[in-house]
This record gives sequence, C-alpha cells and structure tokens, in this order.
Amino acid sequence: MTVRAAIYARRSTDEHQVESLDTQLDNARRYALKRGYSLDMAHEFTDTASRAEFAPHRRRGFAALRDAALAGQFDVVIVRDDSRLGGDMLRVATFAQELTDAGVKILFYSTGDEMVLDNEMTRLVAVMRGFASESERRRIASRTRESVERKARRGLVAGGAVYGYRNVPAADGAGRVREVDPEQAAIVREIFERYADGEGLRTVAKDLTERGITPPRVRKDGLGAWAPAAIHAMLRRPLYVGRIEWGHTHKTYKAGTKVRTKTHAHEVVVVDAPHLRIVPEELWQAVQARIERNERHSTDGGRPTSYLLSGILRCGECGGPLSVVNGKKGYDPIKVYTCCRRRDRGGQVCASTLRRQVETVDTAVLAWVSREVMTEELLGRLLAALRGRLEARAKSQGDEVEALERQAAKLRAEVDRFAELALEAPAEARGVFFAKVGERQKELTALEARLRTAKTVPAAMDLEVRRLEVDARRRLEELREAIGRNPVEARRFIQKLFPNGLTATPLPTPGERRMRLVGVSAPGRLFGIELGNSASPAGFETLRHPQNAAFSLDLARVASARMGFAA
Ligand SMILES: [Zn+2]
Repeated sequence: MTVRAAIYARRSTDEHQVESLDTQLDNARRYALKRGYSLDMAHEFTDTASRAEFAPHRRRGFAALRDAALAGQFDVVIVRDDSRLGGDMLRVATFAQELTDAGVKILFYSTGDEMVLDNEMTRLVAVMRGFASESERRRIASRTRESVERKARRGLVAGGAVYGYRNVPAADGAGRVREVDPEQAAIVREIFERYADGEGLRTVAKDLTERGITPPRVRKDGLGAWAPAAIHAMLRRPLYVGRIEWGHTHKTYKAGTKVRTKTHAHEVVVVDAPHLRIVPEELWQAVQARIERNERHSTDGGRPTSYLLSGILRCGECGGPLSVVNGKKGYDPIKVYTCCRRRDRGGQVCASTLRRQVETVDTAVLAWVSREVMTEELLGRLLAALRGRLEARAKSQGDEVEALERQAAKLRAEVDRFAELALEAPAEARGVFFAKVGERQKELTALEARLRTAKTVPAAMDLEVRRLEVDARRRLEELREAIGRNPVEARRFIQKLFPNGLTATPLPTPGERRMRLVGVSAPGRLFGIELGNSASPAGFETLRHPQNAAFSLDLARVASARMGFAA
C-alpha cells in the first residue's frame, strides 16, 4: 500500500534565515519521492504566520491540514522541522497527539526524523485530558448526589440495608421504602436501654453474640459476631428516632482518588419520618448524653493512640489484630498485646489467650530488626541480586541490537537501490519501484524505533542501579539512627518491612509461654530498591526485586533462641 503524504510549510516575514515557502515545498516533495510516498497538490498546506500567531485567519493552512488529517486523507505530514508547526508548546503537543491518535505521522525532512511525542509532551497532553475527565467525573458525582437527595426527601431508601428495617417496594411503585422489622426493632431498643443503663459496648456485644442473635452484617471472614464499633454506630443513628438524615459525608476526588469528606451542616438533608421511629425520644437523648460524656472523658486521658506494633501484629488463632490493653505484672499495672476480637467478642470468636507485655515484645522486635535487617550484608545481597538481574537483561538487549542493526542496514541498501531504479525508469514504470521503496521504508521506520529503545535501555538501567545503590546506603544509615530514637519512624519502618504484618502464636517454653512472631519481609522496600517506584525510561517493563516475594524471615528462631522474647 502506498503511503499518502501531505506537506505543511510556514514562513513569516520576520524569519529571514528560514527557507522560503517554495524551497520548503520543493525539499518536502523530494523527501516524499525518495521514500516512494504518493503526493497530491491538494494536500500541500502553507501559512505566512509567525511562530506565535495562531489566530484562525493567520493559520488557515494549519487548520485545513488538521481537518484533512483527522478525516484520514493522508498517512504522513512532511514539514521542515518542529519549529514550522509553531511556538505554542501546548497547541503543538495537542495537534501532534491528535494526529498520532488518528494514525498520521509527522516527519521532518531536515533531519529525517519522525516527530515522537516525548515524555514531556505526552505528559502535557495527559494532564489536559485528565483535567477534562476530572470535571466530567465531578459532574457525574454531583448528579448522583442530587438524585439521592431527592429520594431522601421523598422518604425513599437512599443507601443500603439498615438494621431494624426491611426495604419494601413503595406504594406508588417507584423505588423502595423502609418499614420497621419488629424483631430487629426489639433488639435495637434493648441496645439503647442497656447502654443508657450504663452497660459497656463490649458487654452488650458479647451477650448478643452468645445469645446467637444475628448481627447486622455477616463479615467477609464469616464471623457472625456483634462488634462494639457497629453497636456504637447504631447508637448514633438518627433513623431510630424517626429522622432521615442524609449528606453528612459525600464522595469527592482528591488527587485522583475517591475520598469521603464531611459536608457543611446546611447541606445535610433532614426529613422527619415518624413511622420509622423505634426508640423513644427520651431514651435517644439519654444515650446521646452518655456518648458525649464518654468521648469527652477519653480525650482528656491523653493516652497514646498507637504502639509500635499495634495494627502490625495479628492473632495466629483468628487472624484479627492484636491490640494493647491494661494488664498486671505482680502488683504493677502494665500494657499488654492481646487479641482484639477475643477481648471484644469473647471466647467463641477466638480461643487465643496470648498476652505479652508491650515493652518486651517491642524491644525484642527492634533488636531483631537492627541485627538482622539493617546490615551491610543484607543490603549487599539485595544490590547484587538486582545487578545480576539487570545484567542478564542488558546482555539479551545487546544481542538484539546487533541483529536489528544488521536488518536495518540491509533495508537501507534496498531503499536506496529501488529509489535509484525508480528515478532512472520511465515515468510509467516508476510506480512499481515506489511501492517497493514504500514497503521497506515502513519496515525500516519500525525497526529504527525498536533499535533506539534497545540501545538506550541498558545505559539507563545502569544509571538507575547506581542511583539506587547510593540511595540505599544513605537510607541504611538513616534507618539505623532513627530506629533506636524515633518511635514514629520505627513503626513506619516495621510496617514497610512487613507489609502483611506479623503473626503471633503461642510458643510454650519451659519457663513461660512466649510469643512466636512470623512474617514475610520485604527488605527491598525498606531500602527503596524497587525499580517499579522510580522513573524509568519508556520501553521496558517494570522490574521488581526478585527476592521481595520469597524472602521470608522466621523471627521465631531468632526470637526464642537468641532474643529471649516470650509470651
Ligand atoms: Zn484472636
């Protein structure tokens, strides 16, 4: 298939050093002929505007070129160089992207290059597109919100199931409405009464679970237990006093991610629905007063919100998190790690009775990390593995470069030969040779693109490894310093090192019951050795450190034998 070429030329009176329009057209035609492209006078476009001029009447040729290109009238556009397209980076990038999307290439006859959308340009265009789609997302989100708001005002169901109610079809057949479920409503009232009488959330939750009452939601892990947090949420739900409130939070986008944010009070929709009242107003008020008293009390206490390993340690029995509670050592009050689910929901949910002093466990884990992870030796192993992997890749790239270059040389020779034959042949016979030139030129262009990538990748990778090595060594120093002194940093490091947490199981020893801690570590993450996170040149896949997945450290061996930390 013959490649159809168009030409664009531009020159303004202030550009003395630039070729005249005629010279530009001549050179472009010659370039097309040499490559066997077909030309059509109707597809030669010119402007006499300066670089900065983009007013439609000054850029008629450019506009016509764009329309014809998007209409698929030709396959390539030949121009002298990118300066001919104009000086407005944003416009040129958008134009180039539009043409690329339409499958039209831009070729520069002065250098023989194809205009490639480099990273900066692609990013620019991506930003613009992202902007457009973001405003579209916002419009959709606000439409959704409006529709839910209308529903809430009509008393229709907005949102999912709520404990204490059934969702049934509305009388007018449009949508679904709630009605009170008498059995569940009795439980709701019981919860409110017991809490108003001074019972704790945990006591109520445990009792309901033990009585076998179905909780509001059966969790993904299949645990059919009442959770204190869920009961707390129920105690604050205005629907139980017959008030539908909607819009306390709404979804919005922050840096591309969906998040919930609080709305202003005046945006909250409130609809009275006396037929949905389950709890009498007095009882509701009593419960709200107790919740507020408790909240004030707990913020006065000033207790630390997180310990080194809370949220990182998991119960080996039930898989739930370990949390910190008050315990005793002799007559002294101490803090201990223990299973959160057992404490909140009772022995039916988890049988683990593991308890261990926070200080003991923290010290042991930190000592282990300093000795086993923060070492030159481990860092050396990580870097060596990374280097080995990259060298293997570089070698296979090298072999490919040679093969590609041989192929390209052959194609170039053929293009030259057929172009000469075409120029020597009588006019009516030229078409055949032009077609052959076109075919090979197309192949050659693709080949050269692959060659460029293959050549730049090994050098870029090497640079990347050296940069990572320097970074990693500096980070090792920082980690060593911070882990002993800065608890917040130390916690972050451990989270990074064990992205899936540490599992604690009982380890009986002659003296006492100790804690066995096992986790899969990702030391590469700690040192930032993850090529996937760093900017890498386009054209090669993301590399991940090969050891990250398989690198498993059994803390138990170290812990029980040498560190002596017990539970
Ligand atoms: Zn447990």
